[in-house]
Amino acid sequence: MDAYRVAEGTGLDLRTIDPGEKTAFADLKKSSSLNVLASYRRRLADLQRLLWADGSRSLLFVLQAMDTGGKDGTIRKVFTGVNPQGVDVRGFGVPSERELDHDYLWRVHTQAPPRGRIGIFNRSHYEDVLVVRVLDLVPEEQWRRRYGHIRDFERMLIDEGTVIVKVMLHISKEEQARRLRSRLDDPAKSYKFNPSDLDSRSRWDEYMAAYEEAISETTTVDAPWFVVPSDRKWYRNLVISKILIETLEGLDLTYPEPEHDLSAIVIE
Ligand code: ADP
Repeated sequence: MDAYRVAEGTGLDLRTIDPGEKTAFADLKKSSSLNVLASYRRRLADLQRLLWADGSRSLLFVLQAMDTGGKDGTIRKVFTGVNPQGVDVRGFGVPSERELDHDYLWRVHTQAPPRGRIGIFNRSHYEDVLVVRVLDLVPEEQWRRRYGHIRDFERMLIDEGTVIVKVMLHISKEEQARRLRSRLDDPAKSYKFNPSDLDSRSRWDEYMAAYEEAISETTTVDAPWFVVPSDRKWYRNLVISKILIETLEGLDLTYPEPEHDLSAIVIE
């Protein structure tokens, strides 16, 4: 999955990444992708059990995307099969008055996953350099300083045992139009339609510039960003599952030794 990892110290040009491509699973069709996804789900479930048993590390999975980018669907499809008791999903909306009375990382830090658990951030502290920048909610010198804070904050979490994976779901503007239209047409989805989604759509290029800079400034060897082509939902699900599996496999987690001598125990 290294093809989608954004290397530290390089600029990111999103126009060079085709949101519709599927090279990592080039031979696969949507119809047969479900078998692969099923095997990834089993592997992810095993790894979550091991993460919990090992008890020394946690996984923070940060998800960012434009509206309709597929954050909710990704969480549903990738984590189906993982024990819900081991996973915390946290969403970050418009900050409350109380949250705004604190620094922008205050509400985020309290939600970071404890040892043994997977924490999913559905939106995150990156909103504080994305929507905040595009809507001009704080002065430029203030949001610009945040890249450094975020690198340091994530470094601290890593040093204390968290492994961090950050994913941008990369969709095309045309695909967003299709998804917004289908929201309007389907009663099961139309309740999700928010006219403010059209405001962010009208600022697409500004958002892309904000994403490019935020990702370039905060991708590091230990807290990498992945830009995942996401026009095809099945492809996105496979790529993200594989990224998470490879990340957890890289931790060399082990089941702890039993605390007691089990050899003498007889169960009548
Ligand atoms: P979603 O759109 O992810 O389903 P919501 O409907 O709760 O979730 O929307 C969250 C909204 O909150 C988004 O428009 C997002 O840009 C906004 N938001 C999140 N964090 C911030 C922030 N720090 N400052 C301003 N707006 C934010």
